[in-house]
Amino acid sequence: MDYKEYLASERKQEWREELRKSKKSKERTDIPRVHMNELPPAYRITNNEEVNQGLNIEQAQTEAARCLDCPDPLCITGCPVQINIPKFIKNIERGEILEAARTLKETSALPAVCGRVCPQEKQCESKCFYIQKLKKPAVAIGYLERFAADFERESGRISVPVIKESNGIKIAVVGSGPAGLSFAGDMAKNGYSVTVFEALHEIGGVLKYGIPEFRLPNSIVDVEIDNLKKMGVEFITDCIIGKTLSYEDLHEMGFKGIFVASGAGLPRFMGIPGENLIGVMSSNEYLTRVNLMHAASEDSDTPVIKGKHVAIIGGGNTAMDSVRTARRLGAERAMLVYRRSEEEMPARLEEIKHAKEEGIEFLTLHNPIEYIGDERGRVKQMKLQKMELGEPDASGRRSPVAIPGAIETIDIDEVVVSVGVSPNPLIPNSIQGLQVSKWGTIIVNQETMKSDLPDLYAGGDIVRGGATVILAMGDGRRAAAAMHASFSQK
Ligand code: FAD
Ligand code: SF4
Repeated sequence: MDYKEYLASERKQEWREELRKSKKSKERTDIPRVHMNELPPAYRITNNEEVNQGLNIEQAQTEAARCLDCPDPLCITGCPVQINIPKFIKNIERGEILEAARTLKETSALPAVCGRVCPQEKQCESKCFYIQKLKKPAVAIGYLERFAADFERESGRISVPVIKESNGIKIAVVGSGPAGLSFAGDMAKNGYSVTVFEALHEIGGVLKYGIPEFRLPNSIVDVEIDNLKKMGVEFITDCIIGKTLSYEDLHEMGFKGIFVASGAGLPRFMGIPGENLIGVMSSNEYLTRVNLMHAASEDSDTPVIKGKHVAIIGGGNTAMDSVRTARRLGAERAMLVYRRSEEEMPARLEEIKHAKEEGIEFLTLHNPIEYIGDERGRVKQMKLQKMELGEPDASGRRSPVAIPGAIETIDIDEVVVSVGVSPNPLIPNSIQGLQVSKWGTIIVNQETMKSDLPDLYAGGDIVRGGATVILAMGDGRRAAAAMHASFSQK
């Protein structure tokens, strides 16, 4: 049975048919989209508590009733891991929330994470019948995903998957971000002995060191990691593959398959004057020090600067996380400097909305051209070039063009540069014979995620450059399926 046939047969189940008939379509489409419960802005900028508070059961079931259980559910085509969206939503509507959570886990290893950070408005929700045909707000698929995953976790009845008998084959995973974690889970289920090597002292990759608590609490990620530990996955932290242990060492240790999920954590700078002044840093450094090294705490040995006038350069999720962090650390002026207009910003809409509510200043159509320091080498001003939008560029977005002579100078005491990342170069540089693109990403077969080395697979940002959590997770799952198939053939 292919996936379409499977979806159709699930949809024909008696309980689904009865539920569909229980309300007229008009009754469903008249229900307004639910609003997420949020902490008030004035309170949330004083702390790191999660801004979104989740839906209660009544809100979730009412929202679930909006879903029309479409015969050809396009929402699924917008989900990179093809979650059976109508099935999980209809389970919420009928009150079988644990069943909804199980449905999510059929295809997604980290639903509580994805329900919080996936750009749903560009993925599943963008394809929803409501948007496509009714011109109404989409069913809140992401909120419902988060609701079901949280309900399961809070109920204490998290389902640990059935693990096949051990086959004695040792598998190494390099990196513990979403790609590595989802790969590890799928391989453990199939009876492999999986060890994850992580360079940092914390497990979770960007989920821990990048995305702040106010968007994704560490406790949510820890539950998923504990689950993997219960499934027998071993984690070794503070171990850099390519330095602490080499590819050859892993072979000598008996690892028969290796999945590289080392991410894209190498910050880019703009190459403009003054970028090496004190007080100018990358968002990677800024967020890692705050999130992982507690550098914002008073008793930190290596405290981070808490600027009063802070400029964050960029318009993506990382820039948004940095500027909202700066605000929480006491910035009176927390400014986002972006060379295009707000329409072109790659950050999620929800993050833009939250940032505005928190008093973040948006200096769109501005581009820094120089940072100016004081006599002690500390940044004190930035020169901004004003821009206007020209013709669309290769990315399809209208490209920013400098307005001649339109330059302004602004006082600042801290700059966080967040203009993109490159793949971590250590693994591509340290493994001989591994094919690497000119951007430094590992080249793999897109279906199997296998490199041209017989035992090495790779996925996530090290293959895609900076992408998303769900795409990294999907890569991990595809690599696990292909590696398992290859061992099964042998
Ligand atoms: P990572 O999560 O980067 O994990 C790689 C891990 O490998 C790291 O822990 C690293 O320490 C480790 N490692 C590297 N080299 C080695 C080595 N040689 N040996 C051992 N370990 C090694 N995506 C979304 O979908 N939604 C969002 O809202 C979102 N917000 C983001 C906010 C920020 C601040 C950032 C930085 C990214 C965000 N992203 C978001 C992108 C998303 O987090 C990444 O695409 C995703 O984490 C990539 O997963 P990964 O497993 O490939 O790599
Ligand atoms: Fe429900 Fe929208 Fe998906 Fe249709 S497209 S099944 S209405 S979520």
